[in-house]
Amino acid sequence: RKALQAYPAQVIVDLAAIRDNMRRLVDVVNREGGRTDVMGVVKADAYGHGLLPVALASLAGGATWLGVAQAREALLLRRAGIDADRAHVLTWVNNPLQAPYRELIDLDVDLSVATLTAIDCIAQAAREAGKPARVHVKVDTGFGRNGFTLEQLPAAIERLRPLVQDGTFELVGQWSHLAVADAPDNPDFVRQTDLQVERFERFTEELAAAGLTPRIRHLANTAATLGRPELHYDLVRPGVALYGYEADPAMGTPSQYGLRPAMTLQAQLSSVKDVRAGEGLSYGRVYVTDRDTSVAIVPVGYADGIHRSASGFDEAGARHVDHAGGPLRLMTTQGPMLARVSGRVCMDQFIIDLHGSAQDLGVRIGDTVELFGPGRGEAFAEPTADDWARAADTISYEIFTCLRNRVPRLYL
Ligand code: PLP
Repeated sequence: RKALQAYPAQVIVDLAAIRDNMRRLVDVVNREGGRTDVMGVVKADAYGHGLLPVALASLAGGATWLGVAQAREALLLRRAGIDADRAHVLTWVNNPLQAPYRELIDLDVDLSVATLTAIDCIAQAAREAGKPARVHVKVDTGFGRNGFTLEQLPAAIERLRPLVQDGTFELVGQWSHLAVADAPDNPDFVRQTDLQVERFERFTEELAAAGLTPRIRHLANTAATLGRPELHYDLVRPGVALYGYEADPAMGTPSQYGLRPAMTLQAQLSSVKDVRAGEGLSYGRVYVTDRDTSVAIVPVGYADGIHRSASGFDEAGARHVDHAGGPLRLMTTQGPMLARVSGRVCMDQFIIDLHGSAQDLGVRIGDTVELFGPGRGEAFAEPTADDWARAADTISYEIFTCLRNRVPRLYL
């Protein structure tokens, strides 16, 4: 508790929301009596929410799989005691020439194979380990990133088949990633996803013709999990939904899907003071006060992961394009009040023009300011990460994952 006092801001993660979101996702995919497993995608430190607490909360909510990009993250999960009886763990972004495959196999981590080099490296590690490697063949159905294309598949099959036949590999999965699942009303996007699905099925046929039958297939991210039930296959891989967000806010609000944003970012005002009309705020003087006013200082900046692109520009400063800064909610002595970042976000701080006297508004040093949170829908609700994403011209994913460890995570 004492150490925390040294930090001027906090991320609060509601683990009950993570657990409930996972329960909801498990319900969604099993609505029609199906039997689809759900993977909690906890890569990138659980989208900035904290790998281990989120992994445990998703398991409590019914996840049977955990998905991570890097080998390091998979090892952290296993070394923390999440063993194979509790969850399957799949890892997918590794440089095959450097990945610690031997340890991953020893710890029963499932491995994506996306290149011939990976097949060779994993085979060698499995022989050393004296046990089969659990592999998922990654197929490139139209993302253009990881996996074998249909043209490359024959060479992959030739290399894979003997390894599956002699027990070096256990062929657990066939999988792919969707490029444009998050715009269900866009006919081009729907067509593109359909094309990916068609290719996915072709891959299955080609593998089967070679005597290779993966036990499970998986394709769906959040957007397809919520919007395309026919793409659920045996396992879905929702990421952003676990944290209570839709992939694209145009698809609806989290509450429409029964989801609850889990993260709140808040800070305490480090200074409140009065300034005259015509004073510039922050670097570059891109924001100039248009009246006598008060300003408040929020002690977080881009070194904490607050996007500099969420800077606020002056509507009155005709030299500059209007740009509304990142939204905020201040908890004043007179109740909640909405405000915005004024001027440029600095490395460790930013400024808010209160558009009035702090004394009249009931704003004091030490008051809590919420940058974003669940956004409960009431009047003066705090903004959400989607609101920040709009202000910073990015996506909620980047808002979460950019938050540095300079801001401690507290768990509810
Ligand atoms: N599957 C893979 C392979 C991914 O890389 C990701 C995240 O980017 C996901 C699933 C989860 O995506 P989303 O957060 O959109 O659900």
